[in-house]
Amino acid sequence: MKKIAAHWQIIIALIAAVIIGSLLKKFDDAPWLQSFLKICDLLGDLFLQALKMIIVPLVVSSIIAGLASLAGFDGFKRMGLKTLGFYLLTTLSAVVLGLLIVNTIQPGLKDGKPNAELRQVFDEAPAQADDSAKEKFAPDRQAKAKDWTAIFKRMLPSNIIKAGAEGQLLGLLVFSLMFGIAMTQFPPDQMQPMRDFFQTLNDVMIRITQWIMVCAPLGIFGMITVTVYKSGAEVFQQLAPYFFTVLIALALHMFLVLPLLLKLVAGINPINHFKAMKTALLTAFSTSSSSATLPVTMRCVQDNAGVSKKTASFTLPLGATVNMDGTALYECIAVIFVAQVMGLEMAFAAQMLVVISALLTSIGVAGVPSASMVAILIIMNNSGIPGADNAILALFAVDRLLDMSRTAVNVFGDSCAAVVIAKSEGETLYQE
Ligand code: ASP
Repeated sequence: MKKIAAHWQIIIALIAAVIIGSLLKKFDDAPWLQSFLKICDLLGDLFLQALKMIIVPLVVSSIIAGLASLAGFDGFKRMGLKTLGFYLLTTLSAVVLGLLIVNTIQPGLKDGKPNAELRQVFDEAPAQADDSAKEKFAPDRQAKAKDWTAIFKRMLPSNIIKAGAEGQLLGLLVFSLMFGIAMTQFPPDQMQPMRDFFQTLNDVMIRITQWIMVCAPLGIFGMITVTVYKSGAEVFQQLAPYFFTVLIALALHMFLVLPLLLKLVAGINPINHFKAMKTALLTAFSTSSSSATLPVTMRCVQDNAGVSKKTASFTLPLGATVNMDGTALYECIAVIFVAQVMGLEMAFAAQMLVVISALLTSIGVAGVPSASMVAILIIMNNSGIPGADNAILALFAVDRLLDMSRTAVNVFGDSCAAVVIAKSEGETLYQE
């Protein structure tokens, strides 16, 4: 029998989950419902945990094995500058696009005035929010997140094992980079056993990633069935203008801005790149976590696009931690939307402050579900937007689908950097 391609299996799982999740709402009182949801939850959790399980050994081994093959520190510096430059360019264009769209559509206004119905939704949000939402936005958490120096502290973890245990990708990344560069400073013969060790460790991790991806449709089915079952339609209806503004802006960035950059900067056919990234994009969309998707992104970029291990292992883990185009764009739209509803006129300077804050906080936001919500709250507080605490709870209630979409954009942005940098390093892509 012909095997169904991986991305089709995931698409079928997504469709089945949406249908079954919506049907389940009709069986609210059925005795079997809770057990069924528990099994779905379990499938989703196991899949996510399996992906997270391999992140630490995969990232560490691939960066070290990849760097050891870079031609010393100069090669690293060149690639580092190019990658950071590309990330800055794409994130900045994403935020500016978000700003233009939210000011054009003005989803928070009705007939040119602040939308009173939306204001009511915000006011009622605390009464409707569940405990997990309230805990997420507790004052002590906000204070912790406000400390911008924390990003820099995370770069150099005092304990590398602890950083690994906590999934602090940024710290692991910096340590692995240092390790790989240090290896290039010794005579190659002396380092050969170390190079072989990390190379073979990486090969084993890749094999485990392939096994996990075989189970992706089941995990994704479980996760999305529960999400669809739990999602409420009422708040969603009122927030629809906001919802579609975000989706339009994300779509423009993903299907217009990034493809144009691919074509103009590196002469890459965007269709080829979309095809290569199908499975990673679907995984990002389903998991809402760019960190958990990282193993899949690395596979797609190397196996389908043909990027070398050294380029992929440098650009992608860095991208998953610091480059979030979708998140930056989303933060900008969310903050200005709330300001519109609350009747706060934001002058050019105030909007620029939002742009810069969205750019900076998107670097610090972790690649996990709904991570940017706290950043949005911080920007709203810094910009003096009234009623921010209530508004964030209302936005949180409809966050899932937007999170899924912006995570796909985040992952696509990282993958674009990988192919653009690979091309500039003279690599042959897409079996040209
Ligand atoms: N869920 C996003 C990601 O993992 C982060 C966010 O915007 O909340 O990329």
